[in-house]
Amino acid sequence: STSVLWFRRDLRLTDHPALLAAVEAGAHVLPVFVLDPRLLDTDTPRSRRLLASVAALQKDTRGALVIRHGDPVEVIPRLAKEVGAEQVHVSRETTPYGRRRDEAVEKALAEDGRELVATGTPYAVGPGRILNGSGAPYKVFTPFARAWHQHGRPAPAERPKRIPWLRDDVHSDDLPKVDGLEGIEAGEAAARKRWEAFLESGLTAYDTERDRPDLDSTSRLSAPLKYGEIHPRTILADIAAHSAGRSKAATTYVTEIVWREFYADVLWHNPESAWHDLRPELSKLPYDSGPETDRLVDAWREGRTGYPIVDAGMRQLLAKGWMHNRLRMITASFLTKDLHVYWTVGARHFLDHLVDGDIASNNHGWQWVAGTGTDASPYFRVFNPVTQGRKFDPDGEYVRRWVPELRHLTGAAAHEPWKHDNGYDHDYVQPIVDHDEERKESLARYERARR
Ligand code: FAD
Repeated sequence: STSVLWFRRDLRLTDHPALLAAVEAGAHVLPVFVLDPRLLDTDTPRSRRLLASVAALQKDTRGALVIRHGDPVEVIPRLAKEVGAEQVHVSRETTPYGRRRDEAVEKALAEDGRELVATGTPYAVGPGRILNGSGAPYKVFTPFARAWHQHGRPAPAERPKRIPWLRDDVHSDDLPKVDGLEGIEAGEAAARKRWEAFLESGLTAYDTERDRPDLDSTSRLSAPLKYGEIHPRTILADIAAHSAGRSKAATTYVTEIVWREFYADVLWHNPESAWHDLRPELSKLPYDSGPETDRLVDAWREGRTGYPIVDAGMRQLLAKGWMHNRLRMITASFLTKDLHVYWTVGARHFLDHLVDGDIASNNHGWQWVAGTGTDASPYFRVFNPVTQGRKFDPDGEYVRRWVPELRHLTGAAAHEPWKHDNGYDHDYVQPIVDHDEERKESLARYERARR
């Protein structure tokens, strides 16, 4: 018989438990990727990145991967019937939309006597598995991380020696034609190469340099992890086996992977927190909206706030679909605390543009900054864009890379054009708001909301 293997956030063939389960269950495996219009509706860097990854997987399966456009709830049962598959294998999805969709697909398959079989997840420890002593989920990172470290996890799975892909004449739709797809780094082999290079030469300086957007000091694995081109289990096993595996740098790196696991776990237990405050304490906090606010938000989106580090980050996002973690925090703080805009507005913009756009890490990253989420960041922390810039981009290199209007300023001067006679010689915008005033306004609103 044939098994269907429905790929989603697991676009690889190594360390893939659902693939192993499909190989074990069927004489043949039909791999499929569904282009769901709900997830792929615009020509964004994220959509292009996903398509490049699917194209790479199609090559890795030697062309066996079948592409179908449409709603998976219709497409998957129809395909299973077409090829006579009794089982459809998947890696378990853990996001709110993915869970709803999979339940509907499972139901539709069952009506026809077929089965959806979920094996593994995109995480080293599946969301929902870690509970505290009283059987409740964690809402704070540090105790979660402690429990996560104590929790067992399986060793990485081997890549099957031979995969009996179904080679019958099953119709495949074409991938949408998108210019420049070949130029995008994507796919399992590229992810593996990037990870190995980082492990050998980048990891040792990670703890000291990871906060510097002017240096290329982080692993840039967020998109490969997002699409499952590499599994975190593989990363963790490689670190444990490496000579530097117990270094402070390695421990710091593992902690970042655990943040990814933590946010997925929080979202699993609180699906509504994708677009609503996780914690109700600040539900009375007033936010700004209306035409004047829209104008400010547009300036933020386009990198025209007049705060150099904010504008550099927002322009990098538009140009590259990626932003350094420090910049994600600084720009998110600016939108929520300097412009007093509700965090979902920014989370939506990030998701539309980030190549690694991930509902758990993004929306909980936003809530962390806004103070409405997991409680590591106190609500009264307001990032100062100038001191942040001077501290983490000490020579102004990062700002000059993304804001050409400031390239004539040397060193850290690029962070404070208002202090230099020639600061605005190349038409850089004046600050759209006064940070010190907005900081006070933000704190006053928080105080009132907490009363
Ligand atoms: P590295 O520093 O090399 O970290 C390694 C891996 O650890 C990352 O690839 C990522 O998978 C994980 N990681 C690191 N930091 C975090 C973190 N704070 N939270 C969760 N996981 C983390 N990450 C996403 O993958 N997708 C998003 O959509 C996303 N949106 C964010 C939005 C905001 C407002 C904030 C503050 C953070 C967001 N992050 C997001 C987390 C983090 O900024 C990125 O994972 C990181 O910048 C990616 O670069 P890297 O792979 O070089 O990271």
